[in-house]
Amino acid sequence: MTATIIDGKAFAATVRTRVAEEVAALKETQGIVPGLAVVLVGEDPASQVYVRNKGKQTAEAGMASFEHKLDAATPEAELLALVDRLNADPAVHGILVQLPLPPQCDADKVINRISPAKDVDGFHISNVGLLGTGQKALVPCTPLGCLMMLRDHHGDLSGMEAVVVGRSNIVGKPMAQLLLGESCTVTIAHSRTRDLGEVCRRADILVAAVGRPEMIPGDWVKRGATVVDVGINRVGRADGSGKTRLVGDVHFDSAVAVAGAITPVPGGVGPMTIACLLANTVTACCRAHGLPEPQGLTV
Ligand code: NDP
Repeated sequence: MTATIIDGKAFAATVRTRVAEEVAALKETQGIVPGLAVVLVGEDPASQVYVRNKGKQTAEAGMASFEHKLDAATPEAELLALVDRLNADPAVHGILVQLPLPPQCDADKVINRISPAKDVDGFHISNVGLLGTGQKALVPCTPLGCLMMLRDHHGDLSGMEAVVVGRSNIVGKPMAQLLLGESCTVTIAHSRTRDLGEVCRRADILVAAVGRPEMIPGDWVKRGATVVDVGINRVGRADGSGKTRLVGDVHFDSAVAVAGAITPVPGGVGPMTIACLLANTVTACCRAHGLPEPQGLTV
């Protein structure tokens, strides 16, 4: 048996199309243009690429994109003052502060300064609490994207055994909360988990969010399980060319022979993350204006 490959790139394109349709309808019927502000402090090369992609896709969806690039030495107070201005700006419906921040800026303090209603990354403590208590939140983009793909593939997830490997605040924990919200039986595994292979083999849904290249082999995957590989790891190629390639946390070639469905790396979860950022911005915009939320773009 070879697993169905879940095409995150294609699915993300359909989400972006849905977002663009909602944006066009908001403009036409309400005269509202959803706006996303992205703040980048410093010159981390990976962050610059992310911010560029976010700005491009925001504009392509017909939304207003506001980019704020600050010097790496920007004092925390100056960053907080910018967040305050964006909180007060009615043209801005979503605010994203690109992480990591330089050492003089306390990430928790900055994130918690963002108005929860504009916190499209879903990292504000209020949104974390809302998600944890099963209330309407803005949900972190990567786990939201994973859930959308799982719902699309399975429909109802209720009663399924789900194992999430990784307990970070941005992926593992919110992913587990979302799966619990879908009435899965959820196990969260981490670096202290005993016999991780045995735990993974229980999973009907196995989500890997660790950051260790190909650490989950095929014989940890239950036959027919759905595997969602969040990991993005750059490793050297075996051909000695000195070039690199991207791999996930799952050993794809062995897992694909056992799983029922699997997300590849690249082209799986990755493209869904920005698509869900756009979706969250439209959701935040509709909520801010007391309008009905778009169907299928949030949970
Ligand atoms: P973190 O480093 O914050 O968390 C990693 C988690 O993995 C921790 O909970 C850690 O456990 C656990 N872990 C580490 N080693 C092991 C091990 N040997 N066995 C079991 N668990 C282990 O990472 P993130 O959650 O931020 O990211 C995870 C991966 O997802 C990375 O590859 C990252 O690049 C990728 N990512 C991809 C995104 C996308 O858009 N596709 C977005 C965000 C992240 P403990 O808590 O005990 O230390």
